[in-house]
Amino acid sequence: MRVAMIGSGYVGLVSGACFADFGHTVICVDKNAEKIDALNKGEIPIYEPGLDVLVNGNRFAGRLSFTTDFTEAVKDADAVFIAVGTPTRRGDGHADLSYVYAAAEEIAHAMTGYTVIVTKSTVPVGTADEVEAIIRKAAPEGDFSVASNPEFLREGAAIDDFKRPDRVVVGVEDDRAKEVLRALYRPLFLNETPIVFTNRRTSELIKYAANAFLATKITFINEMADICEKTGANVQDVARGIGLDRRIGSKFLHAGPGYGGSCFPKDTLALVRTAQQFQAPTRIVEAVVEVNAERKKNMVDKIENACGGSVKGKTIGILGLTFKPETDDMRDAPSLDIVPGLIERGATVKAHDPQGVKEAKHLLPDSVVYCDNPYDTAKDASAIVIVTEWNEYRALDLDRLARDTKDPIMVDLRNIYDVREVEKAGLSYVGVGR
Ligand code: NAD
Repeated sequence: MRVAMIGSGYVGLVSGACFADFGHTVICVDKNAEKIDALNKGEIPIYEPGLDVLVNGNRFAGRLSFTTDFTEAVKDADAVFIAVGTPTRRGDGHADLSYVYAAAEEIAHAMTGYTVIVTKSTVPVGTADEVEAIIRKAAPEGDFSVASNPEFLREGAAIDDFKRPDRVVVGVEDDRAKEVLRALYRPLFLNETPIVFTNRRTSELIKYAANAFLATKITFINEMADICEKTGANVQDVARGIGLDRRIGSKFLHAGPGYGGSCFPKDTLALVRTAQQFQAPTRIVEAVVEVNAERKKNMVDKIENACGGSVKGKTIGILGLTFKPETDDMRDAPSLDIVPGLIERGATVKAHDPQGVKEAKHLLPDSVVYCDNPYDTAKDASAIVIVTEWNEYRALDLDRLARDTKDPIMVDLRNIYDVREVEKAGLSYVGVGR
């Protein structure tokens, strides 16, 4: 099949490359010419493990190409995926659909023959109807269907998630579109991946329900961690003790500094707004949004307490800036609350991240000193704080950290260290909920 992918970011680029790897012919479009130039030179604009090999392999095989020219990509396509951003709209917390609608308008002018337009971006209930109306208005004679196919990949494991998903969700209103989507995902049908066909509105809501549920699970265990800290219980044992119950499950029960990233914060908020708009408020999700936002800010107090009540005039070493390991994505990362919060209270911040520094420099105060490795970050620091659980922080030379820091204190916001091991090396240890 011939596929056009509108938007070549984390989702569009991975999805486009994976569809090409399934054997389809894919043209990825982006309005960012720099991104397209880089991709045409074989450079990958984001960090995602394995993506360079996948993209360039399919590029050389002639199945994957990149352009800024909408018409070139869309004119002969059987399916056009919209994978543009849907960030929080300024002012009211709803999803900003302007990029989706702009793409729909352009598709209407470029498509020829029967085309299935698929929203892969995370979009509120009813967006596919609106996309259909926009295209119908711009191309009254157009032969097309609109489908919804939300994406569930996780950054850092995106290729595997796309190729071996727990499920694929497809929202369609007609059989022609259903057959095109079925053909696109044929390799997954052969693998017996569950494909959930539903109507478009249900498909759109499934994505928000999934993200809100996961965000709730994280927030729940975070609040359990707070109770553990006050009572002397251990949240990791609580998580194991409840997670072994198969009705609960052990995933997403890691206490930490609060969820961040390009999806959960904006999607929980957008769901809250949609629910309010339809007068069916989701009070649980409203609480999750509020509790999580507060939690990220409270991490500054936690670090301050670990430092004896003040960070004024002290140097704090931050390990990890991205919202999770194995990505360079900084969107809504907890570090964006923690680092400025520490600086406001008079600390000097040194920081290290294996992939996030380039992006962090645009988002964090200029005074942050970026270091090449964890040990330079720890040198002369009054505390070393693990904010993101990159693998390279899991086996640090603790004796060296104890020697090099000014005050040997480790604040482990991801609970990756064993308390006894850290204390044995001579560092005092503060974890989350234990
Ligand atoms: P992104 O910001 O990385 O990429 C979006 C791209 O679209 C950008 O490169 C931008 O230049 C391009 N773009 C915007 N308008 C365009 C237009 N009219 N024509 C061509 N290109 C255009 O965003 P992302 O992280 O890939 O997310 C895309 C969507 O997928 C969002 O709705 C997001 O919620 C959803 N999603 C993201 C993830 C994730 O892990 N990042 C996972 C599942 C779903």
